[in-house]
Amino acid sequence: MRKFAKGEREMPSTICALATPPGEGGIAVVRVSGPECYPIVERVFRPVHAAKTVAAARGYTALLGHYLLRGVEMDQTVALFYRAPHSYTGEDVIELSVHGGSAMAGGLLEALYLAGAVPAGPGEFTRRALENGKLSLTQAEAVMEVISANGRQGAALAKTALDGSLARRISGIQAALQTLAAHMTAWIDYPEEDVPELSEGELTLTLEEQIGALNDLIDSYGAGAVLRHGVDCVLLGRPNVGKSTLLNLLAGFDRAIVTPIAGTTRDVLEQAVMLGDTGIRLNLFDTAGVRDAGADAVEAEGIRRSWKKLEEAGLVLAVFDLGEPLTPEDLEIARRCQGRPALAILNKQDLAGQGEAVAAARQALAPYFKTVLALCAKDSASLQPLCDAVARLLGTAHLDPNAAALCSARQLTAAREARDALQEALDSQRGGYGLDAAGVCLADAQRALARLTGEDATESTLDEVFSTFCVGK
Ligand code: GDP
Repeated sequence: MRKFAKGEREMPSTICALATPPGEGGIAVVRVSGPECYPIVERVFRPVHAAKTVAAARGYTALLGHYLLRGVEMDQTVALFYRAPHSYTGEDVIELSVHGGSAMAGGLLEALYLAGAVPAGPGEFTRRALENGKLSLTQAEAVMEVISANGRQGAALAKTALDGSLARRISGIQAALQTLAAHMTAWIDYPEEDVPELSEGELTLTLEEQIGALNDLIDSYGAGAVLRHGVDCVLLGRPNVGKSTLLNLLAGFDRAIVTPIAGTTRDVLEQAVMLGDTGIRLNLFDTAGVRDAGADAVEAEGIRRSWKKLEEAGLVLAVFDLGEPLTPEDLEIARRCQGRPALAILNKQDLAGQGEAVAAARQALAPYFKTVLALCAKDSASLQPLCDAVARLLGTAHLDPNAAALCSARQLTAAREARDALQEALDSQRGGYGLDAAGVCLADAQRALARLTGEDATESTLDEVFSTFCVGK
């Protein structure tokens, strides 16, 4: 792994920050990292065992003691010692655990500042780990994803990235391109030498294989992001089709008021639920029923917001009532769902009779939706088929949490650039433009991959990546 050059930068400061969430809790952990870590903590921490000292503490050991603020003994403290380079940041690190709650951790931070430490910036510990060659850029990004992942599948995906599987996959692609590039350069630059000509078939095959590998990564990005962050989901449908009932089925309890009077749901409700066993977190928006609001201004505003939500949502559940024929409003909803990640739910299957109504509704809605599902929102048994349909629609059903995956928009952009450059190389080769042209495109692809892995990351890219981190990580 490449060590990020520190250039002419002066000796790094010794930083400290709360590593656990602020607020009440069992314990709070303050992390200190940097060249002056041990002398600074020595000034602040007094071991219970008088014969022990911070200076003499070996890595991977712990000491019990107290911390001192302006000479006053404060909270009981456990100090955990790491010696460079065997720590998260690669520097000397000490983690100090005190009782949870902001008072004790705040006092400890104050004591550390007084002793010479400075507050860490967002993600500064991880940035130092990167600069010291402990992590690649893709792994550093995965750290943030592990922290923010919701749901076990999402966390497993991020963990896979943290283990370096993406870096390994990309380095496989880079190696294949490197071999190709070396061969091409030799053949172009030294025509008089006896370099065997690169066969067209060989070149085409390698390019196709690497385009395929990049496409796999690009295609699974959306589903991975759904598992890690959840998806904004909007429930859409005329009044009384059963949206609130469906919301309650998803949420597992009576969150929305369900009444048989049309137009009761006036606002966009927000509720986050884990969707059955799919690992997908739905951020649910139940919207005001879509109908001609007439003179009711409040309801009209609700409907306007429904359409807006439809455009922004990562998942649309459009609900239709099988108890009555489809109306022009239903078809307007269907039309607006076309081309979106939308699932048509034919509700009140119990009222549909012999199935002709279901068949007719399916036929009418099929042009607008990828999936049409008939169910009964009042029946809890409907949850599983709904979960399966959503997982298929969002592509999470077949996603392997242990496979390499892109985990940031930045990585996705770089992967697309590399893929497009390889595609151009392939096109120029097929178009008979010669190896020179293909070579230029190949070099573009290699640069894009180097940006992806961070080998070519500029200071501003690093600033951007770490700006999303929390302080203390
Ligand atoms: P919304 O206005 O779209 O939110 O509709 P509601 O969820 O308030 O439901 C309207 C009415 O339809 C209520 O009386 C529900 O009990 C009823 N309902 C909802 N789902 C079903 C279903 O699957 N079968 C039957 N028979 N009635 C349902």
